[in-house]
Amino acid sequence: RAKERGRNRYEFFTAEINERVQQRIMLESRLRLAVLRSEFVLHYQPIVEAGGRRPVALEALLRWRQPDGTLVGPGHFICVAEEVGLIGEIGAWVIETAIRETADLFGKEASAPRVAVNVSPRQLRDPSFVFRVTEALAAHGLPPSRLELEITEGVLMDEAPEVTDALHRLCSYGVRLSIDDFGTGYSSLSYLQRYPFDMLKIDRCFVSNATDGAAAARLVETIIMMAHGLGMETIAEGVETEEQFDFLQSKGCDQMQGYLLGHPAPLAEIAARFPAADAPSARPLETVTGDG
Ligand code: C2E
Ligand code: MG
Ligand code: MG
Ligand code: MG
Repeated sequence: RAKERGRNRYEFFTAEINERVQQRIMLESRLRLAVLRSEFVLHYQPIVEAGGRRPVALEALLRWRQPDGTLVGPGHFICVAEEVGLIGEIGAWVIETAIRETADLFGKEASAPRVAVNVSPRQLRDPSFVFRVTEALAAHGLPPSRLELEITEGVLMDEAPEVTDALHRLCSYGVRLSIDDFGTGYSSLSYLQRYPFDMLKIDRCFVSNATDGAAAARLVETIIMMAHGLGMETIAEGVETEEQFDFLQSKGCDQMQGYLLGHPAPLAEIAARFPAADAPSARPLETVTGDG
């Protein structure tokens, strides 16, 4: 009987693994089609100045609009796109689109809001990456300082020389670099001196704990002080309450991002909230709702 039960379990796991493999293969082929059919759109989430709450940047967040109208978030497909080698093509589309839409929305003045774009490890290792970025900026007349590239620290783990090289070249070109999700994954403080980051994004998990206890609060305060000490600005991610906002502001955090300040939204909605494209940072943001 024990043997029989063992076999049943074995068959059960095999069936489950088969199903997962099938789903992976289906997702992969649907993704390839999505690239061919341009089924991607960008949503944008405001990043505001701590004092005054004026928008200083928008973060571009990728969505996959499937033929039936369903919007799929990046958490469901970025990993697969990286594994099957589609991220280069998707990422190039994201950068080009984010630059074009931002130039259309806010104009080409150096002082208008920036656009922040997330970048995957695979993209940075591609020798044509830096060229593509500078070409897209030039094509749309956007000053390099209006583009911010967000890099997750895990990415830098492998210390690939081409990654270091790409980051230094982008930095000397005037593109701004930020370290995303700081404090999660493979944190290493040595990255902060090895790579030319302009900003540090404090991960949401620290922000949500910050107002819960003295130790968590000191941790956030210390991260902000350290970033400033190294000449970086700080952005808090996932700010959802006024209490979190006030706390972070009192500790000197420079910029805030999160549902409190605005959900990611389609370009049309963002454009409606910033009617005067010529006078961007004219009025404070109201809290709005939208999709996550
Ligand atoms: P991220 O770069 O850390 O982006 C912030 C994520 O937090 C976004 O999720 C955003 O919708 C969500 N968020 C913003 N404010 C709040 C808040 O107040 N509370 C909570 N609970 N969540 C909030 P999203 O859009 O699902 O993106 C997930 C991740 O996918 C991003 O994390 C980013 O690493 C990656 N990603 C997004 N777009 C791209 C892209 O174009 N290329 C690449 N390579 N990765 C991307
Ligand atoms: Mg990001
Ligand atoms: Mg990111
Ligand atoms: Mg993040």
